[in-house]
Amino acid sequence: MVPKGNVPEVAKANMQVMPCKARNDRGEPCSSPRMEGSEYCFFHNPAVAEKRAAARKQGGINRRQGKATKPVGSVQAQTPEDVLTLVEQALADCLTLENSITRNRAIGYLASIALKTQEVGELDRRLVALEAQAKLHSA
Ligand SMILES: [Zn+2]
Repeated sequence: MVPKGNVPEVAKANMQVMPCKARNDRGEPCSSPRMEGSEYCFFHNPAVAEKRAAARKQGGINRRQGKATKPVGSVQAQTPEDVLTLVEQALADCLTLENSITRNRAIGYLASIALKTQEVGELDRRLVALEAQAKLHSA
């Protein structure tokens, strides 16, 4: 029998990796490790609610300050090729963001614009070719 107040080192090590005793949104036991001296993890420990709020706020600030992948000078959107370049740049920027429903919606929207732009560009090229042929035949 282990005397009181003399917890073996092996037991101490096991206690440090004990999972949090809270439950997640789905009602399943939280699997995050307990904080030292607490039965809860960082996300569920009521004693660190302020720290958590500050960490969330900092995360929001970091996301808002996300930088564009390339510096944007003057923007051209006069031809389908210009628009496609812009859309591809925006898609590349989106793909660097943290995965979320909002990001995926933006990617879907931008991809549909890219497809539409390519269709318009293709029709434009065919029309130019047809007009050139028509000119040859009428001359
Ligand atoms: Zn937890």
